[in-house]
Amino acid sequence: TFTLAIVGRPNVGKSTLFNRLVGRKLALVDDQPGVTRDLREGDARLMDLRFTVIDTAGLEEVTDDSLQGRMRRLTERAVDMADICLFLIDGRVGVTPSDEVFADILRKRGATVILGVNKAEGKAGDAGAIEAWGLGLGEPVRLSAEHGEGMEDLYHILRPHAEGFAERAAEDAPVVDVDVTEAEAEEEADLEAHKPTAKRPLQIAVIGRPNAGKSTLINKILGYDRLLTGPEAGITRDAISVRTEWMGTPTRIFDTAGMRKKARINDKLEKLSVADGIRAVRFAEVVVVLLDVEIPFETQDLRIADFAETEGRAVVVAVNKWDLEDEKQEKLAELKEMFERLLPQLRGAPMVTVSAKTGRGLDRLHAAILKAHDVWNRRITTARLNTWLSAMTEAHPPPAPQGRRIKLRYMTQVKTRPPGFVVMCSHPDLMPESYRRYLVNGLRDHFDMPGTPIRVTFRGQG
Ligand code: GDP
Repeated sequence: TFTLAIVGRPNVGKSTLFNRLVGRKLALVDDQPGVTRDLREGDARLMDLRFTVIDTAGLEEVTDDSLQGRMRRLTERAVDMADICLFLIDGRVGVTPSDEVFADILRKRGATVILGVNKAEGKAGDAGAIEAWGLGLGEPVRLSAEHGEGMEDLYHILRPHAEGFAERAAEDAPVVDVDVTEAEAEEEADLEAHKPTAKRPLQIAVIGRPNAGKSTLINKILGYDRLLTGPEAGITRDAISVRTEWMGTPTRIFDTAGMRKKARINDKLEKLSVADGIRAVRFAEVVVVLLDVEIPFETQDLRIADFAETEGRAVVVAVNKWDLEDEKQEKLAELKEMFERLLPQLRGAPMVTVSAKTGRGLDRLHAAILKAHDVWNRRITTARLNTWLSAMTEAHPPPAPQGRRIKLRYMTQVKTRPPGFVVMCSHPDLMPESYRRYLVNGLRDHFDMPGTPIRVTFRGQG
């Protein structure tokens, strides 16, 4: 069930509506003279809907100067407690400056608002209803709390909300005592289904500047010298590939070597053109960015690595010719620093040192590629995501740009290859980039997802 707050300036009929929704008996008790409770709460029913209703009418009787400030604070509190706000105006009076103030509060709080034009029995509220459009809070619903008119309209507006909350509650239910092992087992099974098979081999491309050692690496993976055997005819120009079984993994490698051979035959420049690089990235599930340890992170490497990230491919960075390196520890630290500085968008991508020539480190490269492919296909259950999300928001709540509080409601994974998540929240347009990064990095660390782009988008509840 959900919580509805009735808000609005004094005298628009909030109490009357509250009483109608919860039944007079309870309301009468609470309405004892002298009892000024700030916020009244009651169990409401509207046909088959059951929900909690909060009323801010307690201050109606207060007439001192501080009324406006107190009314404002009270309203803000009610809005924060509620899932939906029913904002009432008086249809006979029309929109007053005071109404505008309340409308502003609701907008700033990012509340889900139903606009009610009260005292609209018969045709009395016609003018007010038309004026109410001007508040920019959507279509107003005409009500008469006193005479019970418009209750059916209110019901039809509330019902989809109620269903939405019921759905969400069901989805979120396991959050309370989520069976982690069960959720993990589910994810495990899902991953198992994406393991490369003979029918669906792992697709990789090795990209990098000329002489980085691409051909040498590919030949090593294939276990024979591809340049001697010549390229197989590709099915299409876009996917010239070689099939192999690499350490037990059915694999298709984008045929960098074959293309190079063609280039040699045609006596052209011995390098992959930009178009070839793009084609390689499009072909691949996992892109291996092969760096030459002696000339690492060249502009061409950076460009293609960035393109791979933008295209949503999993990326593994391999530093080749490691056999030539004497000061391995120092070099590694230097490479890591360069990686962070030059390719921040690939944070989390694994970096593996290899020697294509001797074959050293190829087992670690194989493992890193498989892991990147796994997490690229990864699906995390909504239950586990939301448990994590509440811990994240608790540790570090979203900011309040321009005084507008951003409320994160829940999140769910909407796609894989690469993993994409949607976070439902208020003011998605105001969410700063830094908070998105906080969540992306958090996801990567907590759920152990190296080597894959992670997309997080924010959406309002509409
Ligand atoms: P490609 O242009 O990226 O395909 O590069 P190649 O595979 O043709 O290699 C370029 C040069 O680097 C060749 O002379 C290779 O023998 C050499 N090379 C490739 N990998 C290694 C390595 O791991 N260690 C050393 N020392 N040399 C390598």
